[in-house]
Order: sequence, then C-alpha cells, then structure tokens
Amino acid sequence: MSGNATDPDPTDDELVLLADADRRARTWTAGIGSSARRVFPSAESLAGLSRLDEPLTTAGRPAGETIAMLDEVAGDCVVASNDPRYFGFVVGSTLPVAAAAERIALAWDQCASSFDNSPAAHVLEKQAGRWVLDALDLPRASAVGFTTSATAGAVTALTAARRALLLRHGWDVDQRGLHGAPTVRVVIGELAHITVVRALRILGFGLENIERAPVDEHARVTAAAMPDLDDLTLVILQAGEVNTGEFDPFADIIPAARRAGAWVHVDGAFGLWARASQTHRVLTTGIDAADSWTTDGHKWLNTPYDSAMVIVRDADALSSAMNSDAVYLAGSADAQKNLTLEFSRRARGIPIWAVLRTLGADGVEELVDRCVDLARHAAEGLRANGFTVLNRCVLNQVLVRGETPEQTETVRDRLQQSGRVWFGPTVWQGEPAFRVSVSSWRTRREHIDELVELLTAELARSR
Ligand SMILES: *Cc1c(COP(=O)(O)O)cnc(C)c1O
Repeated sequence: MSGNATDPDPTDDELVLLADADRRARTWTAGIGSSARRVFPSAESLAGLSRLDEPLTTAGRPAGETIAMLDEVAGDCVVASNDPRYFGFVVGSTLPVAAAAERIALAWDQCASSFDNSPAAHVLEKQAGRWVLDALDLPRASAVGFTTSATAGAVTALTAARRALLLRHGWDVDQRGLHGAPTVRVVIGELAHITVVRALRILGFGLENIERAPVDEHARVTAAAMPDLDDLTLVILQAGEVNTGEFDPFADIIPAARRAGAWVHVDGAFGLWARASQTHRVLTTGIDAADSWTTDGHKWLNTPYDSAMVIVRDADALSSAMNSDAVYLAGSADAQKNLTLEFSRRARGIPIWAVLRTLGADGVEELVDRCVDLARHAAEGLRANGFTVLNRCVLNQVLVRGETPEQTETVRDRLQQSGRVWFGPTVWQGEPAFRVSVSSWRTRREHIDELVELLTAELARSR
C-alpha cells in the first residue's frame, strides 16, 4: 500500500486500507478474553511507546504504514478494558451489534445535527431516544440528547435547569446573563461524582456556594438532613455512587423538592440502568419524578465511548437552552444540535439504537441482573477468603479491603502489574480500598472465580 491520504483518487487504496484496518481490528477482537491477552500493558510494551515520538514530516508517509504503526506499536499498549477480566471504572465492553453498527455509521460519515443533515441519523436517534425512555421508564415526553458523556450531559442539563429556574422568576438569562441575576442555590450530596462538581464549577456556581447534604454509611444522602429547598434551588441526586453503588432516597426527597419549586437532577451514569431490571428497579423508586437525568451508554449499556444521554422532562426547557438554529441551518426542536452541546456531531445514538433493538427490554434486564449477581458472587468469594467487603453490593460494585492498608495496596498493585486482571484503587472513609466493578456483557462466573483466586493468592503472599 503506497498512497498518501491526499492522493487525488484514493478510492482503490481506500478500500484496501479499510480492509487492512478491519483485519487488524478483527484480530484484536478475536483475542479478547484469551489468557495471552494482558489486560494492562507490560513495562516493556510501555517502553515501546517511545517509537511514537516522531517529528511531523513535510511530505507525509504512506497511509498503510501509519495504520500498521498504530496497530503494532500503540496496539501493544492498549488497556484491554473490553476484556472480561477488566473490573475498572464501571466500564463495559462494546456489544458486537454496537461495534458493527458503528462500523457502518463511520462509513456513512454523517454530520448528525438535524434531519436535513442526515434523515437517517435523525430518525434513528429519535427512535433510540424513545426506547431509552421505555427501557428506563422515564416520562415519555422527555427530550433525549445523545451527548459525548455523562459529564457533558450534566453541563447540558444544569444549564437548562438554571435557565428555567431563572425564567420562572422573570429573569431571561439568555439576554441578561448572570450578572445581577437572582441567586440560584445548588444542593448536592457529600459524595456527588467529581464530574457533577466540575459541571457546577464550569457553569460558575462557585464551589464555596454549593450546599452539601450529608450522606449515611452507604453513601446515600440523608433525606432528613436536606436543607430547606425553594423555587430557586437546583438539587442534584445520585443513582449509583461510584464506591458503594447505592442510590439516594428519591421518594423521600424529590416530591418535597418539587413541591418547593426546586429543579431535581439525577446523575445516574451507570445506576440508572437498574431501572431496566424488575429485580433491582426498587432501588430507583421515585426517580421518575425528577426533572432531568443523565446516564451513560458507554458504561453499563456496553456501547462504544462517547455515548451518553441527557434526558429532560420539559423538552422545551432543553431545546430552548441548547438552541443553535442559524440562518443557514435551522432545525426542529428535536434536532440533536438543539438538545446537546455539539453542533456538528457524530450520530452517537446509532449504537444505542442497535443495542436496544437487539437486546430488547429483556436483554437489557438480563445484562443488568447478571452483572449484579456476579458482583455478589465476587463479594461472597472475597469475604470467604479473608477480605473485607465494605458495601452491601446492592448493585454491580464491590468495595474491598485486605487486612491492613498496606496489604490492600500491595495486593492491588501486584495484581495490576500481573496483567491478568485489573481493578482500580479508591479511598473509603479515609483508608485505601479497591473497587471491583462488574459491568461487561463478557464477564462470566469463571472470570469472577479467577479474580477471587488471584486475589486470594496475593493476599496470602502479602501476609
Ligand atoms: C462515570 C460517572 C460519571 C461521569 O460520566 P462520563 O460519561 O465519564 O462523563 C458521572 N457520575 C457517575 C456516578 C459516574 O460513575
């Protein structure tokens, strides 16, 4: 393969290049879960990354060589987060149908701003939005924006929320800005996710001004300790705390908050999917009374990255806050460019459409239930082998400690270096711990048993 990317007629080479890339991608995929695959690169592989340190050439290089380098040098340093033995950060593994749909959508190369830019993308994302509301049983008239992340979704939802609260007080923030505006209060839980805090910081709420509601030993906001709320307050609750996987008591907080005129937003990056399960949806009781929600596809729904949703009950509140109609590109209120921060954007709802169409409600439920069962199986195995499990395992998170803080860190570091499994560190109530998240469709009981075995052996070694 010789053509440069700028050849005037790249058609032939383009197909050869894509076939080569596809072959390489399929080889990678075929190795997922094999014992030869390290889930974290070795020190030697990492050293090889220095080969990427090249000067920018004047004349460019052959495209085929670039793809080979990507695969052979960078590919050796990939974290196999789509491996069934990867338990870090609540991330999943792209489902085959999502990966396949993404391949086709990449070929289409759509700018999925509005119907006029891409009728196909617009209609697919509309349908995906309806199915998301069905799967999560949230108010069906809500607007659904497909965002890059739960973080971007939070910035989006909180922008719409503040704008709506101010508008109810006769303050048009679009025209008048925030200077001199009535003060919007913000109440969040003590253990709100850092990206929610960042969203508030970006939006200029000021960290000093945020009111923090205390949490109980499970990391849930204590309803009785919530401050008084009013109609200029933004309340942010959580479905699935990152350490314990627990849920704020929505039914005890949301009705009163809404009676007071507050806007309630729920961060449900992974936890919102508990709602898709008949068994676990009880954790989310009352959540559908909120005003807005954010959730990820790229965690528990096992879609590719850059896949998340912002859901707002008052569709107009979202579409007017995010409106980006221009003389040369107007769109309907449900155009994705009027529901998200992006203007030109990928049709990131397409893999979500493909997954929901393929799994159906039962398939999503089965995915959620299986992960929770496996997390509990891990917790039992670890408890039986000398570890302390610090949480109740209501969801897919297992929060674990060895016998001493030193042991906890040693065991975790050694296993991370082994490349055989991976899970992440955390600090719980001031002491080190680690967190095993079970969120991949690929993970089965045998992978959990292997994890427990490896951890048990390291614990014995560290005594
Ligand atoms: C991961 C996570 C987020 C942030 O989601 P991104 O999609 O990574 O931006 C927010 N809240 C919780 C509880 C999370 O687990």
